[in-house]
Amino acid sequence: MINWNALYDRLRAAAPSLELRRDEPMSRHTSFQVGGPVPLMALPKDEDEVQAVLYTAAMEFGVRPFFMGRGSNLLVSDQGADLLVLKACDGLDRLELLPEGEWPGHRTIRAGSGVSLARLSKFALEHGLTGLEFAQGIPGSVGGGVYMNAGAYGGEMGQVVSSVSSVSLPEEEVVQRITKNPEFSYRRSQFQAGDEFILRACFTLEPGDPAEIRARMGDFAQRRREKQPLEYPSAGSAFKRPAPVDGRPVYAAALIDQCGLKGLTVGGAQVSEKHAGFVVNRGGASCGDIIKLMAQVRRRVLQETGVALEPEVRYLGKEGEGWNF
Ligand SMILES: Cc1cc2nc3c(=O)[nH]c(=O)nc-3n(C[C@H](O)[C@H](O)[C@H](O)COP(=O)(O)OP(=O)(O)OC[C@H]3O[C@@H](n4cnc5c(N)ncnc54)[C@H](O)[C@@H]3O)c2cc1C
Repeated sequence: MINWNALYDRLRAAAPSLELRRDEPMSRHTSFQVGGPVPLMALPKDEDEVQAVLYTAAMEFGVRPFFMGRGSNLLVSDQGADLLVLKACDGLDRLELLPEGEWPGHRTIRAGSGVSLARLSKFALEHGLTGLEFAQGIPGSVGGGVYMNAGAYGGEMGQVVSSVSSVSLPEEEVVQRITKNPEFSYRRSQFQAGDEFILRACFTLEPGDPAEIRARMGDFAQRRREKQPLEYPSAGSAFKRPAPVDGRPVYAAALIDQCGLKGLTVGGAQVSEKHAGFVVNRGGASCGDIIKLMAQVRRRVLQETGVALEPEVRYLGKEGEGWNF
């Protein structure tokens, strides 16, 4: 059993200005607006505070914190989760253009893990750099975007990330490392394999025509507004893109639509009528509603098409809870 009061007191002593919240409802921190409380949340303002949390939690209490960014790909149980959540959102938001270096003709932006992808892509535009237009409408952070290898409209983080600074959970001390050219694949990064908190990432980009960059960003934003149910809370695409069949791409939204599941509702959760790939919170949805709805969608798609959809959304809950598919 973790003594949360004792951990709170130790963190308070180790980092007196660290923002700490007890029994914090996760519905305040997820784009689904769903989720019960976690006993302790830490919101570090800088990298020293991150290290203090990691060291104290892991070394003194044997606690592995859960790392989160803007909660735009998280589904949290109605009962919450027995976790220390380390949220890199408002702190860790440094953004800078580095001097020309290793890649002649290219420029590198270094961004803290709490920087929003919208701010990052706008910064690239302001410096006439191309490659991050795709990220503008993704409501995540640099940390979450790198971890998930977020992508859209043919672009993804893996195409532009040149290095990542992270800290690993300490065995004896907090270890900081820089990974050059990290490995990425569809919605996966090498950071999913370990207990590493992403502190910063470098994005190496080519110069481009600002008018063209702005036009591409405008086009992507318009496509999102037209096709996605941005008026309702969601976590974006509920399911991953399935593996290609006979070399041809298969899309989860198309399969769900083909099975006539648009508008399928459980409690306050609904398969969006606008975009079958999105599960939306139409008001008052519980995590239970969302899980039941996703299970129904998965079962029907499997029965009718033979394709087993896998959730793209990450689930956080009490021990033993889960998708239960
Ligand atoms: C309306 C809408 C549209 C979306 N469109 C897209 C899209 O087009 N393409 C796309 O790929 N996604 C999309 N998403 C999903 C989501 O925005 C992305 O997955 C995003 O990258 C998640 O970032 P986040 O900061 O919110 O991460 P979170 O949801 O907070 O966390 C996601 C995962 O990243 C890990 N993580 C977060 N920060 C760190 C860190 N600093 N260190 C280590 N691990 C960390 C968490 O542990 C968790 O496992 C959309 C979501 C919404 C709501």
